Amino acid sequence: MQYDLLIKGGYVVDYAAKLEDYFDVAVQDGTVVLVEPAISAGAKQVINAEGKLVVPGLVDSHVHASSWLGGSYAHAMLVRAGVTSALDMSGPGETVLALAREHGVGLNLATIEYVRPGHTVSSDDPAAAELKDLVAKVQRQGSLGIKLLGGHYPLTVAATARAIKAAAQLGAYTAFHAGSVEHGSNIEGMLEAVGLADGNPLHLAHINAYCRGTVRPEMEETELALQALCANPNISCESYLSPLNGTSAEIVDGLPGSMVTRRCLKTGGFSEDEAGMEEAILAGWAQVNYPQGKEMTLLTGEAARAYWRQQQTLVSVSFAVNPVTPRVRLATAKRSDGSFVVDAVSTDGGGIPRNVLLPAGLALVDLGGLSLPELVAKISYNPAQMLGLVNKGSLAVGRDADITVVDREQRAAFATIIGGQVCYLDGQVLGRGGKIITTAAGADNVRQQGLEPLVVDLADSILMQKAQK
Ligand SMILES: [Zn+2]
Repeated sequence: MQYDLLIKGGYVVDYAAKLEDYFDVAVQDGTVVLVEPAISAGAKQVINAEGKLVVPGLVDSHVHASSWLGGSYAHAMLVRAGVTSALDMSGPGETVLALAREHGVGLNLATIEYVRPGHTVSSDDPAAAELKDLVAKVQRQGSLGIKLLGGHYPLTVAATARAIKAAAQLGAYTAFHAGSVEHGSNIEGMLEAVGLADGNPLHLAHINAYCRGTVRPEMEETELALQALCANPNISCESYLSPLNGTSAEIVDGLPGSMVTRRCLKTGGFSEDEAGMEEAILAGWAQVNYPQGKEMTLLTGEAARAYWRQQQTLVSVSFAVNPVTPRVRLATAKRSDGSFVVDAVSTDGGGIPRNVLLPAGLALVDLGGLSLPELVAKISYNPAQMLGLVNKGSLAVGRDADITVVDREQRAAFATIIGGQVCYLDGQVLGRGGKIITTAAGADNVRQQGLEPLVVDLADSILMQKAQK
């Protein structure tokens, strides 16, 4: 007997299968076929995992891999970070598919389409019919559903509610960066969003972003957010652990186009206009996302200003606006039954340089905030269930061979295995291609785009299931 792949001698941590011990893991035809203390049979490829952790492949429930947020870099950056499946949180879906075809290194990637006035909808108050047409169109294109970008590009309160309802009626995935024309990307906007969901399934994005202390003291905001989530089990959500946010540096008519960007400039003590943006870049408060080799990196000062100008201001930018205490509290908070209030830890990374599931997640383990199995629940099993990936998030026999081998001391991925293919190993990105996570409605278009569909039934998603309870 010869397996395709054998991962030997690692410390396996699997939350769902309740495994935590030294095991060898054998892989055949893209599937986990044996998990035992010492497998003696041979394999075409052996990875020595002695001294390392072996966990179900990481699933990042909030990344960016589109044309306007570093999409050509996202794929390699994600597999280097140990990620095997991810949800692109805004599209445009056409560009997500095109970039996956061109830059794919094995990742399973889903996308949802942004709802933005003047781009995908005609105004900030689209009618139900227009929203339904948009949802149906993006489902056929291969998207799982829609992303409401209220924090950056708000809709009216009524149109926001209509969009959530329209997507629910069509069985589509809906994620929301809270905010409307009436409330910003803050705790008020988040509480408004919870109400607007009205019992429908909703993925509320990056809960930490509403707990930055802009309305009330940051920990008051954090406890309000947790209370709202406990009271509204139809909401699924994630939070991230990086201090950095990611937003647009685009200037429209002398002002930052994004409301979030304006707020960040104000927080740093800069004027909320083009001059303030320029000064913030020079001063190092605004860190321009700058491509260097195969990575997106952070750049400040004169070189960053020159790049921002050269790109007609159409670049991403990061501000260190996430205070640490809310991030830790949100990542670790539990309900009285022991379940996590915030389902998953995400990164909001991908093409934005903050793919820190492992470094920040393991730091939290070292601080005693999470056990190793709990970390695996938050960065693999739970987000897999959000996306309806029922065969992922665990290394039990019969599951997909999506596996991350972790260098515990470096708090970094050593190997990233996706569907049995070694896509990253010890510093080298080796993978090719990849799959687009889509629904039956979008599979044809994904194939026509030259990509392989990974078809999920969103009825299997905990997003939908939590809303039905
Ligand atoms: Zn995002």
